[in-house]
Amino acid sequence: MTDTHCPYCALQCAMTLTGPDDAAREVGAPVTVAGRQFPTNRGGLCQKGWTSAQVLRTPDRITAPLVRGDDGELHTTTWDHALDVVEDGIRRAWSRGGRDKVGVFGGGGLTNEKAYALGKFARVALGTPFIDYNGRFCMASAAAGANRAFGVDRGLPFPLADVGGAQAVLVLGSNLAETMPPSTAHLAGARASGGLVVVDPRHSASAALTDDGHGVHVQPVPGTDLVVLLALLHVVWAEGLADEEYLAARATGADQVRRSVAAWWPERAEQVCGVPAAQLRQVARLLADAAPHRGGGGAYVLTGRGVEQSTQGTATVTAAINLSLALGLPGREGSGYGAITGQGNGQGGREHGQKSDQLPGYRKIDDPAAREHVAAVWGVDPASLPGPGVPAVELLRRCGTAEGPQVLLVHGCNLVVSAPDADRVRDRLAALDLLVVCDFVPSETTRLADVVLPVTQWAEENGTMTSLEGRVIRRRPALAPPPGVRTELEVLHDLAVRLGVEHGFPTDASVVFDELARASAGGVADYSGLSHRRLDEAEAAGEGLHWPCPATPDAPHPGTPRLFLDRFPTPDGRARMVAVDHLGPSDDLRPDAPVYLITGRVLQHYQSGAQTRRVPALAAAQPEPFVEIHPLLADRIGVQDGEMVQVTSTRGTATAVAHVTAAVRPEAVFMPFHWAGEGSANRVTTDAVDPISGMPEFKVCAVQVRAVPTQ
Ligand code: SF4
Repeated sequence: MTDTHCPYCALQCAMTLTGPDDAAREVGAPVTVAGRQFPTNRGGLCQKGWTSAQVLRTPDRITAPLVRGDDGELHTTTWDHALDVVEDGIRRAWSRGGRDKVGVFGGGGLTNEKAYALGKFARVALGTPFIDYNGRFCMASAAAGANRAFGVDRGLPFPLADVGGAQAVLVLGSNLAETMPPSTAHLAGARASGGLVVVDPRHSASAALTDDGHGVHVQPVPGTDLVVLLALLHVVWAEGLADEEYLAARATGADQVRRSVAAWWPERAEQVCGVPAAQLRQVARLLADAAPHRGGGGAYVLTGRGVEQSTQGTATVTAAINLSLALGLPGREGSGYGAITGQGNGQGGREHGQKSDQLPGYRKIDDPAAREHVAAVWGVDPASLPGPGVPAVELLRRCGTAEGPQVLLVHGCNLVVSAPDADRVRDRLAALDLLVVCDFVPSETTRLADVVLPVTQWAEENGTMTSLEGRVIRRRPALAPPPGVRTELEVLHDLAVRLGVEHGFPTDASVVFDELARASAGGVADYSGLSHRRLDEAEAAGEGLHWPCPATPDAPHPGTPRLFLDRFPTPDGRARMVAVDHLGPSDDLRPDAPVYLITGRVLQHYQSGAQTRRVPALAAAQPEPFVEIHPLLADRIGVQDGEMVQVTSTRGTATAVAHVTAAVRPEAVFMPFHWAGEGSANRVTTDAVDPISGMPEFKVCAVQVRAVPTQ
């Protein structure tokens, strides 16, 4: 039996993997999954978690390196030959254009050790500024907003279990009832008191949790979440509901924010966001009544991708934080603001150097002191470290151009499905001299690659993950990987040696973690008091440890489950409120595109679906892409439930079956993004990005919807 955690989302549910006997470690032995008690999942797993072991046994597992031959096909080869091809391609690119002709694209599902090693590999072995990762698609705006307001970005700066005791919870743009179902147990307190508020243009499974007197579903026009928040702030101040004492002591900028929301009275907001003014007032009062300064039972404001994946994502997160501060929530036990991280290691993935502008410990790469510290740990000259690169969307736009890489190494993501404006991404990847993809199953991106390197997956590897609450947990091997498969740490080691860096890329995850901990020392995400051994002990006690957890000379640091209780990690110790205003989506409605497309996820599939589409039970339960259409819109375009429709933007067209439902607003359609090809939602989405975070606007774009013409 092996205690580990689910390979998928950031809830990182605890599970135990079991084989029939000790032979479970042998190749091919069956593995079963059981939920395990842990503070986040309390023994529960969702359908994805229960079936996760099936991906370990998928029949089309990649078990040998593949190299594209002169015939244009991928052929099985040896590791030596595949690495020769990669090394030659890198050296050729360097000789033609310099170090920045090679780039790296990482993933938010990689372990902390792999994320750290990848960042170091890019800066030390490749010497390139061009590294970023798919977390840019899912957490960048929340990170930018939290860093600006609080001086630190830890998705939930409190344990998730704290939310369970709150009287009111405002969930903005998160369908956690489908993406991480066990987490909804922590909404029970708010539901019991009628205090759950879900803001979503769809009546999603999460919005349905508010039905029957459990709370309020706020259903704004897509792209107007920020207006909802500005109106709530308006009501809080107009009705004297703000915690002025808290604001005076713990925040700056409140006066500017109060003045900026004066123009957003609910009746005006209703004209823009479509939410009745009375409901906006009801929600503001409901939250204020739960706030500590009014003697309430605690309130939380939580944001998700629905409001963050926008060209105004950082502004919207900032408004959500402003609201939480106006009510005196952050830094008070039993109340707070947090962002619900999506990918399995979306939190750790952004702390250890995969981001284009960051070094380990969540340090800024253009900070001279940070460069000096990290360079010392890495044993290199700080001047040799490249400067900031560019965010993911820009990196992809530059691939195969004179301004960007000619070689790209992709780890842990399926860009052809998950990136916005997917057809253009496919074109950019195809324009590269060399595309190298590390993965364990074939994907739409491996099919485009010149070299595919087969790597281990979750239950075959050792390492750590950091959950949505900043809790560092252990991932443990339950079985041996198939022969021919290597760990990504081994791949990076082998490539570094070939590129002339003999030392510095160990293959033992615990050794990598110890170096990561040293590199993080003194940073905001300080892991220096952690080790695999300490984390094993903490997990044996049923907990894990939250960062920051600095090294201490005496008793080990206990970790920090709750941040901000005394002060915010800003220069003056106070949170920074920033006035923001509504600008609207980048791609607004027009006569030839009169409907909004909203994208999102479904219960059975994870991210690009590369793993979950392979699991028979999940594929059977949700076999195909679909488009949710309101009955009024369906009538207007002459489409019946079950017929095929085309969704077209200026980028491309997706075709899927219509689900006619009143769950969406009449001016919007909803499409999940887990599929490739004709039904790929991201062929339609825009690659416009938030100017601060670089996060794409997946959640809203203007489209034409019509019935598929009959032949
Ligand atoms: Fe838990 Fe998320 Fe895995 Fe489901 S996918 S079992 S919610 S970690």
